[in-house]
Amino acid sequence: MKIRIFELFTSVEGEGILYGTKTLFVRLAGCPFTCFYCDTKESLPLDSGKEYDIQEAFQLIDSNLKKQTYKVNFTGGDPLVQHEAVAVLAKYVQSKKIPTYLESSCFDSNKFNHVLPFMDIIKIEFKTKDSKFVDSKHYEQLIENAMNCLKSSVSEKKITYIKIVVSAKTELDDFNNLVNSIFNSVSKDQIDGFVIQPTNEIAEPSLELLLNLYDIVFPYYAEVKVVPQLHKLIGAP
Ligand code: SF4
Repeated sequence: MKIRIFELFTSVEGEGILYGTKTLFVRLAGCPFTCFYCDTKESLPLDSGKEYDIQEAFQLIDSNLKKQTYKVNFTGGDPLVQHEAVAVLAKYVQSKKIPTYLESSCFDSNKFNHVLPFMDIIKIEFKTKDSKFVDSKHYEQLIENAMNCLKSSVSEKKITYIKIVVSAKTELDDFNNLVNSIFNSVSKDQIDGFVIQPTNEIAEPSLELLLNLYDIVFPYYAEVKVVPQLHKLIGAP
């Protein structure tokens, strides 16, 4: 079995509910999508990075894992593009008693369900229409997949939180519909966080828009938080 890894590094987690934790990031190569704010564009081609045998990838984890690492993030690109190899690598990390964490756009619920047993913490990312993630023809289908992933994650009792990246282009109506669909699928007690993440250095949303978006989530989930990408403040990758 082979796995294509774009890069692997230790840094401070700057996103989501576990910001501030020392994390080994395993950035997988490959993502078929086109979000206009993507900040890892170099890792999108499937032939980016370097290919490893799975045993070599185990050694790579061993040689890069620093003491007192809180978790190992499988990120990308999108890790689900290489779901079979990612499941094997995540299982290896779990065998070391270190929590595993999946960062994915959750575009394929079958692939998601394949990696789910080997992940402890799941970020379910929902894309807004304005993200240009996919064309409008395929948008609803992808949201349906993300919704199915969310339901699987909470039913397996994983630590599950929701993230939505928003920009100056985000429409309140679209966001409202998305949030309404999410809380028609899961209850507030089933999730561990809801993060609204503003884009950075590109189409940045105003404070007024962020507060309006916050107000949409608040009636469903009072612990909603607006969290920017904090690692960028300290120049961390
Ligand atoms: S899904 Fe993630 S990795 Fe892929 S283009 Fe969008 S932001 Fe970039």
